[in-house]
Amino acid sequence: MINLKMYMNGEWVEAKSGKTRDIINPANGEVIAKAAEGDVEDARHAIQVAREAFDSGEWSELPAAARASYLFAIADKLDERAEEIAHLETLDNGKPLRETAFDLADAAACFRYYAGLVTKPDGQTYHVADPMQAMVVREPVGVCGLIVPWNYPLLMGVWKIAPALAAGNTIVFKPSEVTPVTAMKLFEIIEEVGIPKGVANMVMGPGPTVGNELAESHLVDKVSFTGGTATGRSIMKAATGNIKKISLELGGKSPNIVFADADFDTAVDYALFGIFANQGQVCSAGSRLLLEESIHDRFLEVLVERAKKIRVGPGTDPATEMGPLVSQAHMEKVLSYIEIGKQEGARLLCGGNRITANGYDKGFFVEPTIFADTTPKMRIVQEEIFGPVLAVQKFTDEADAIRLANDSVYGLAGGVFTQDGAKALRVIKKLRAGITWINCYHPTYNEAPWGGYKQSGIGRGLGTFGFDEFTEVKQININLQVQPSGWFEN
Ligand code: NDP
Repeated sequence: MINLKMYMNGEWVEAKSGKTRDIINPANGEVIAKAAEGDVEDARHAIQVAREAFDSGEWSELPAAARASYLFAIADKLDERAEEIAHLETLDNGKPLRETAFDLADAAACFRYYAGLVTKPDGQTYHVADPMQAMVVREPVGVCGLIVPWNYPLLMGVWKIAPALAAGNTIVFKPSEVTPVTAMKLFEIIEEVGIPKGVANMVMGPGPTVGNELAESHLVDKVSFTGGTATGRSIMKAATGNIKKISLELGGKSPNIVFADADFDTAVDYALFGIFANQGQVCSAGSRLLLEESIHDRFLEVLVERAKKIRVGPGTDPATEMGPLVSQAHMEKVLSYIEIGKQEGARLLCGGNRITANGYDKGFFVEPTIFADTTPKMRIVQEEIFGPVLAVQKFTDEADAIRLANDSVYGLAGGVFTQDGAKALRVIKKLRAGITWINCYHPTYNEAPWGGYKQSGIGRGLGTFGFDEFTEVKQININLQVQPSGWFEN
């Protein structure tokens, strides 16, 4: 049994209340860990030590190269312990080992990316009227509250922790209550590499108390959140008290558009990957498949045949291609959407059920599910299900595809499949979405900005944009001839 503690001011601590929470393996319902369950008081303590650490300047005033060396060291340790941490992530979240192995490699790469970036040239100078010289520098925002969901527990954290620390901020990190195991491993590494006390802190506990305190506290300068759109809205409201800077990476219902002239096998392959990777628990999942009418039936025939062959099982089995959903509550939510789809009159082509055979009855397994004959107003077309459920729509021409694709409150991602390059770019330019793909779906890079239009969020993670989100911009105007202005005569 793993005993998970919080990390504050360089110490491992239990919740002040002494409360703990059971952490469940979603493949079999077994308790794998007991996690300290913090509340507002614990969050306040973590915020206070982060505030003191920031104000001391010990971290923010280090040369960038010195901060970078800590981040490089974290990356190296993540690589060294990759197998162990990936295994724990699979036990905690359920996703197959091949996915967690990828997450670990990506997490190390993210630390290295920001370690490299922070030592590169920065700032601007302006040629203004003599004798003045104007320049701009970037500075850390201050204390950052970082709140993440359970679908990529370690990686979502790293996307925030790496740029925030690189830029010289101090942090209070809150993992999801459902999946805190690998966060503890990351903070063990943070301790091992010797990041000064109080710079990086981790608090665990429920979002509505601990997370809300991070959003509300006047001692926190910035909150960076990844999670559902409803929670994002609540965080925006909580952040108004001290006009906190906010970055929100929220939900999606992203269109994947396949034209008749697409490479058929490639499009089928990515349509499957787009929705069923990570059990469909991906904010950018291609959860709406838009098919041009002339290929609609043939495409679905092949897609369904392949979906039925996806190997669903425990993530620890190397043969598994799709694991269980993250929790019983989430599985029930996904199954309820499947019922809604049936009641709305969508045609269920495959899946639709919980899997209980082969001893899976204690786990939270759901079949890959595809609905055809959906209409734009259906809830399964408009609402984020965040599971292995695909809603298929039919379109007549380019204009119809764009209209259907943009008919959503979300604007996170989208894909287009066609061999006509000009058409691909025309359609992509019309998509109201922040992350797009042509003739593929899902690849993402630490170098490129991640985030959405419309209700999919505010700001961008990753890349230089993600770094800038953790900085303030300061203009400095220098008088090169030190003499009075003479504006007032007396
Ligand atoms: P939630 O929004 O429920 O939770 C996300 C995090 O916020 C958790 O740590 C949660 O705490 C915390 N939280 C919950 N309520 C509050 C609150 N009132 N104030 C502050 N924090 C709070 O999302 P899920 O965990 O269910 O994750 C799924 C969602 O995340 C999906 O909608 C998905 O689209 C989105 N997502 C977006 C991504 C993007 O890049 N755009 C990437 C990945 C996911 P706890 O659960 O511990 O109580």
